[in-house]
Amino acid sequence: MNIILFHDQDIGADQLLTISDQRRQDHLHKVLKVQVGDQLRVGRINGQTGMGEVVYHDQDTTRLRVELSQAGPRALPLSLLLAIPRPKMLRRILQTCATFGVKEIKLINSAKVEKSFWQTPFLQPEQVYNQLLLGMEQGGITHLPKLTQAKLFKPFVEDQLLHWAANTQRLVAHPREAQSCPPASLQPTCLAIGPEGGFTDYEVDKLQAQGFTSVSLGARILRVETAIPVAISKLMQL
Ligand code: SAM
Repeated sequence: MNIILFHDQDIGADQLLTISDQRRQDHLHKVLKVQVGDQLRVGRINGQTGMGEVVYHDQDTTRLRVELSQAGPRALPLSLLLAIPRPKMLRRILQTCATFGVKEIKLINSAKVEKSFWQTPFLQPEQVYNQLLLGMEQGGITHLPKLTQAKLFKPFVEDQLLHWAANTQRLVAHPREAQSCPPASLQPTCLAIGPEGGFTDYEVDKLQAQGFTSVSLGARILRVETAIPVAISKLMQL
C-alpha cells in the first residue's frame, strides 16, 4: 500500500482521517509497522495527494492528520476496450489497470468468451471497487478508473464505439496482420484487447471499420494479463 486513499466522508468532525478496516489496519501494523508521528502518503480518491501524520494508532484504529498539497497523478489518457476475461483473471487485470492509472475500461462481449463470465460476482460494484482500490494503492494513484460494460459486441461497435472512442487513436492489439505499435505518447488512445482465444476475423474487421488499426506487441503471443501492461508501456509515456 503506497498511498492511503479516502473519500471526504472518511474525515471526521475532528478533521482526522480514521482507518479501521481490517485489511489496511493489518498492512499498517505488519508491513509498514507504523508508529505515532510517522508521515504516510495519502490521497483523496479522484483528488489531491499529500501527507498524513499518524496521531493515534492501535490494533483497531489509526488516525491521521491529513494535509493535501499536490494534484494527484493524472490518469493515463487510455481507454481500454477489453473482451471480458475469465473471472479469476478479471480481478488481477482490474488491479493492473488501476495501478497504471488507466482512465476507463469497457468490458465487451466477444465470440470466444464464455457467457458465464458475465455472471461472475467479481463484477459486483463493491468487488470491482475493491480490486481497483488495491491497484490504486499499489501505484500511488488517486484516479479511480471507470468500468462499464457492453454485453453485445455488434450493436456497441456499430452504434456506440465511435462516440465512446471519439478523438482517440484507435488500436486493436492483434497478433496477426498487424503493424508495429506507434511510439509511446500521451495521445488519447483507445486500445482493444481480445479474449484468451483472440478476436475473430469478423470482430477485427468490425473494429477496423470503426477506424481501429491492428498493432502487434511482438512475435510472442501473450496472455491477456501480460498483453495489457506490455501494450500500456509500449503506447503510453508513463
Ligand atoms: N490465439 C489468440 C490469437 O491468435 O488471437 C491469442 C489471443 S491472446 C492470448 C489474447 C489477446 O492479447 C489478443 O487478442 C490480443 O489482443 C493480445 N495479444 C497477445 N499477444 C499479442 C501480440 N503479440 N500482439 C498483439 N496482441 C497480442
